[in-house]
Amino acid sequence: MNTLCKIICPRIHEGRINYLSNRKSKLDSKITNHSLLIKSASSEIKRLNKRKIRYEKKQREFKDIERINELILNKTAYQLVIEKKKKKLEEVHNDLYRLKRNEKKQANKLSNTENNFHHSCKNIETKIHDEIEHLKEKAGEIKDKVDELFHRQVPDVTASNPPKEIPLENLISVFNAKNKSKLPGTLIYQLNPKVDKNNIIGKQAFDNVLEVLKFWSTELNLRSYDNKNAPIKAVIHYLNKYANAYWDGEEIVFGDGDEIFGPFVNWEDIIGHELGHALIGDDLIYEGETGALNESFADIIGAMVNMYANKIKGKDYHWLVGKDIIRIQVKIKGPNGEKTYHYNTYALRSFKAPGTAFPYLKELGCKDTQPAVYSQIDQSDISDNNGVHDKSGIPNHVFWLIADQFGEEKAFLFWYDILKNVNTNNRIQFAELANLQIETARARKLHDLADALTIAWTKVEVLTDSKIQIIESSLEKHQLEEILIEA
Ligand SMILES: [Zn+2]
Repeated sequence: MNTLCKIICPRIHEGRINYLSNRKSKLDSKITNHSLLIKSASSEIKRLNKRKIRYEKKQREFKDIERINELILNKTAYQLVIEKKKKKLEEVHNDLYRLKRNEKKQANKLSNTENNFHHSCKNIETKIHDEIEHLKEKAGEIKDKVDELFHRQVPDVTASNPPKEIPLENLISVFNAKNKSKLPGTLIYQLNPKVDKNNIIGKQAFDNVLEVLKFWSTELNLRSYDNKNAPIKAVIHYLNKYANAYWDGEEIVFGDGDEIFGPFVNWEDIIGHELGHALIGDDLIYEGETGALNESFADIIGAMVNMYANKIKGKDYHWLVGKDIIRIQVKIKGPNGEKTYHYNTYALRSFKAPGTAFPYLKELGCKDTQPAVYSQIDQSDISDNNGVHDKSGIPNHVFWLIADQFGEEKAFLFWYDILKNVNTNNRIQFAELANLQIETARARKLHDLADALTIAWTKVEVLTDSKIQIIESSLEKHQLEEILIEA
């Protein structure tokens, strides 16, 4: 039998096993000891954890106590402040009490002083009243003396050298009616003695009236409308939304205008027109054709003043009365449908084309009703002093035709010269004026003017064809027809 050779003998193995057994026994007992230690350590950890939780709780409680202490400290500080404030309040109360006591004393004193003052005032008032009465008497005496002196300085209207020592500016006073009916209202602007209530419209009225006075002086060598330095009162803000302006023989009165008209103080030709009535006076009875000549001459003066004030020549003038004084608001839709507003503006009358100053306007319920020629006059309509503002378009147009041909200044002076000399015949009719003008022109050897007047008055049908005979002597018939067609 083969013996299996093992290099390490079983004895060694046994020894080894014994050794390992011992080792194991020792390790087992160590393990047992360690287990016991671990067990005890675990219970110690548990105990310590419990202590830790208790400790943390205590710590939180301690913090709370600290906060409470802090609050207690703050409370004490606040209490100190409150005490201080209380003391202050008491002091204020005491002061107030003292002041009230003084106030009563002062009020009594004041009441006594007031009584004394009232008494003194009454005495002074009585004295002032007496003084005013005395001064009024004196002023009356002075005024009489001034009037006497003034009238002595002003020569008669027919005098060849009207007085020029008084500046034209000194003749104008502007008043504010403050939208009431009482005239003239409060004086707001004049130069001598100086009054300036700082009213822009008042100053504008002054400036525009001055232009009229300057025009009369420059063109007609007149000192105011009577050539005796008659003072002119201008009244603004007459009534509420008053849409008109007028001359009442003493003052020129302006309304502020309304949603459609005005404000009238802005239009120099309107002011020239109204003051033109002062210049014309009662020479032309305000009725029918004579009244229309009165109105026409006022329109002419207004146009002349407007050209004079704005340094415009007749060739460049619009020849409209109150250009743009009528304003109609219209709604316009934009490209994106948005609504915008726009004003269509119109004049009151047209020299060049009577009856076309404004179309039918529903806001006014009419169109410009001025007839362009005599046959268009509605003789049955006797409103407006028998149509003075309608019929005036006819002589207006004649004036424009002559002004266009001979220049507005020559035409104006010719018109003025004749109309100022018809006061003995103050019922003058259109045809009478036409013939008077033509005869005067011929007498002055102004044949061109006489011919032009004949054509113009014929164009507006005041002169009939038969009257054209007058000029046939100086013109061939075909020339006359050409002129008539051109006109
Ligand atoms: Zn008028």
